Amino acid sequence: MSDVKVDPVDEKNPVKDIPPPVATPRLTSRSRRNADAWGRWLRVLIFVLLGYTCVQHWRKVLESRDIDEGSWMARALGKHGEWRKGPFGKKAEAAFLVVPNPINAVGASVQYATKPHMAGTPGDFKTATDFLELLQTELGAVAPESPPIYSAGTVESRNATLSIPSLRTPTAWIDVYYPVMNTALDRSLEILDDDGSVVWKAELEEVADDTDPDAGKYFDAVPAWHGLSKGGEAKGKLVYANYGNQEDYDDLAAQGIDLNGTIVIVRYGGIFRGLKVKGAQERGAVGVLIYSDPRDDGTVTAENGYIPYPHGPARNPNSVQRGSTQYLSVYPGDPTTPGYPSYENSTRTEGTNIPKIPSLPISWANAKVLLREIKEDGSGRNRTISLVNHVDDRVIPIWNTMGVIPGLIKDEIVMIGNHRDAWVLGASDPSSGTVSMHEVIRGFGALLRRGWKPLRTIVIASWDAEEYGLIGSTEWGEDFTDFIEENIVAYLNLDSSVSGSRFSPSASPSLAHFVRSAAQDVSHPTKPGKTLWDARQDRGILTGEHIDPEALAMYEEALQAVDEVGIGALGSGSDYTVFLQRAGVASHSGGFGSTLSDPVYHYHSVFDSHRWQLLYGDPGFVRHVAIAKYLGLMTLRMADSVVLPINTTHYAFELEAYLDKVESIASSAAIDVDFDSLRDSIHHLQHASKKFDKEKEEAERKLQHIVKRVAKHRAIRHKVKEIICKIKSVFGLKCTRGENLHACHAHHQHGHGREVEQQVPSVETKSGQVVKPRLGRYMGILKEKRAHEHGKHDEHTKGKLGKHLYKKLKRAVKRVRAVNKKLASFERGFIHEDGIKDREWYRHLGVAPGKWLGYGATTLPALTEAITYEKNATLVQHETSRLTVLIDKLAKEIEL
Ligand SMILES: [Zn+2]
Repeated sequence: MSDVKVDPVDEKNPVKDIPPPVATPRLTSRSRRNADAWGRWLRVLIFVLLGYTCVQHWRKVLESRDIDEGSWMARALGKHGEWRKGPFGKKAEAAFLVVPNPINAVGASVQYATKPHMAGTPGDFKTATDFLELLQTELGAVAPESPPIYSAGTVESRNATLSIPSLRTPTAWIDVYYPVMNTALDRSLEILDDDGSVVWKAELEEVADDTDPDAGKYFDAVPAWHGLSKGGEAKGKLVYANYGNQEDYDDLAAQGIDLNGTIVIVRYGGIFRGLKVKGAQERGAVGVLIYSDPRDDGTVTAENGYIPYPHGPARNPNSVQRGSTQYLSVYPGDPTTPGYPSYENSTRTEGTNIPKIPSLPISWANAKVLLREIKEDGSGRNRTISLVNHVDDRVIPIWNTMGVIPGLIKDEIVMIGNHRDAWVLGASDPSSGTVSMHEVIRGFGALLRRGWKPLRTIVIASWDAEEYGLIGSTEWGEDFTDFIEENIVAYLNLDSSVSGSRFSPSASPSLAHFVRSAAQDVSHPTKPGKTLWDARQDRGILTGEHIDPEALAMYEEALQAVDEVGIGALGSGSDYTVFLQRAGVASHSGGFGSTLSDPVYHYHSVFDSHRWQLLYGDPGFVRHVAIAKYLGLMTLRMADSVVLPINTTHYAFELEAYLDKVESIASSAAIDVDFDSLRDSIHHLQHASKKFDKEKEEAERKLQHIVKRVAKHRAIRHKVKEIICKIKSVFGLKCTRGENLHACHAHHQHGHGREVEQQVPSVETKSGQVVKPRLGRYMGILKEKRAHEHGKHDEHTKGKLGKHLYKKLKRAVKRVRAVNKKLASFERGFIHEDGIKDREWYRHLGVAPGKWLGYGATTLPALTEAITYEKNATLVQHETSRLTVLIDKLAKEIEL
């Protein structure tokens, strides 16, 4: 009866409080009645204590299976489980939602967005360590003596990620990768007279005064150039090519305009800038200029009477959009390490995703002068243009800051991420996302301090060098592809979380309903009674008479590109790319974007500043907060749902919509291909998925049922405890709670530092690698070790009690685990080892960034592009068969 301890004070003097035994040789009727009463009491006591012991044993049996199938679910759902000591389910959500607030959001924006922090610079390193400190403070991740900054590829860095499934306490660190990137050297842009003399020389840097103090201070801190652009010089005649997309270049060719030896001038918009350069290069151009055209600013233009920033909401004519000219749709990441991580000593190849001709980004003010040279009416002189773009190509270290909140299920990880590097100040891109993430982390911190433990592990990433071409996330993804495939159930991305008034979420079709329901559960930031989901209909209020029809058409086309739920497809242009397109992880990205009637968002310019956010982007910072709530809610739900909120049926029906689109493209391209077998496969998948939905429901129902029974047992234990308490109080004894736990703790209070360091257990991952949790986490390891020993200790008590119930529980949990495994790997079913033709890095046959879009998504990309660009019926047939096989396999995998 070790469970029923008496208070030591009473032990010393038991006689004082307990009545003396009645010792009479002859029993009177009264004393007999007393004896009978005592006998009954004794029997009750024995019965009760026996029952109590049984339940105690049962509890220990359950708790001992910490890494076993049964325990996590019992803990998750049992009414009095260990896990439920902290907030859980709706209570956790409610406790989270009260944390993000505008005051802290503004504070975080000041911290991250009032100093330049381009990738690889000291300012960037400072933000990396600031973010690390945030994780350490909020999550309670122990800060080791020497900063946990690990060179990628070293044992420390490898172990930091690979040991995530064995962690029991939050942790945080920084991984350093070594990509080849470049910085700007001298540049110039001139109009030359016929004799070669300079008649005009452009001021290439942005121009700003102190009206916006940060812009005034840092206008030339980061030169206005193109990241990963080709260093070199070019001279040629100017040709205007609109947006610089394939149709624009084809139109020029149709007009008999030869781009060989020319310098092409194009406006920003529509497609990724690197692909504008690629298109020009392939047609023989020697240089490219890309400018910001007010026509793409919708109604908010000087023409409509709006004053330019910093005095009004229109575009500052001196603003320049920096940005990468990587060929994003060929492959992202370090150009010199395609498909593998860029460690300090990695073997490098010549990048094939970067231009071979120089380019420069220029302001509208400069573009106006140049466009005068080539006036459509022929009055321009079209003199020779000289373009100089010298750059410094070299290996530049970058810093991904990572944090982990371990959950009860170790091998199912929900990952959330947002890039941290900006071209200059980046108050919107990406600091608004960093601010929202900051508030999410504070929310999780508040939950952790209340004893919260998620069901699944949560990993938080602050990516670096996204602006150069998704480099930080891509290198990490290439470093840990197996780990991602084995463990990550979903990746939820933020980039810029606020640049305007319209909420626009994109996701894998399997997450569409999940995303919508989270957005419906967050209040609209400004309109009472409405939700964040309603903000998809929001538009700016700055109207005007004049608007460019082409920009408008493009904008409206983008609005239409959503599924029937209202969610867009993911192309590329942010850090979800390696997760979705290469590893096949269901992903999300989204936030508030700019509309054609919002204050002009100065993308990648020094005017993307904190002041602009306060005045025009998000006065009151309420949208930043709404996105924090939305992302936090999605994370909590993805982490804590018993059955993963992944909808394969919606995906299967979306596939048919994708095929409809392909068929109509094929018929207008007069390519005759039989899509019947592919359609049959999709129907088969739909059927299999509907059946699987029933299995999802049934598996969850069964588990809930059995867990209820477990909870009943636990309730009995509590009842028994209460009765014991009452009995004890009859005898004047105090009730004791949790004595065993404290005794156990005291037992493990010894053993520190060095001893622990030597005893760090090695852990074998699923892929067979033996890893040691990295050093520098002594206290964390100590805690883990204690917990481990506690588990072992409990293992001894694994008795015969409750075996039947336990078996049932185990079976039910296994069933749910099997369902979740299928759900988590569904997206992976679209991955084909051979990838997409001519850009094999991209392996997802369901969706990819369009070959000539970059940002925009193309569904069934290999098949679609075989029609649109290759115009090759044999290839179309081949791609159709490839998809049919893939979808048949997918159906088989979810079939029962
Ligand atoms: Zn960004």
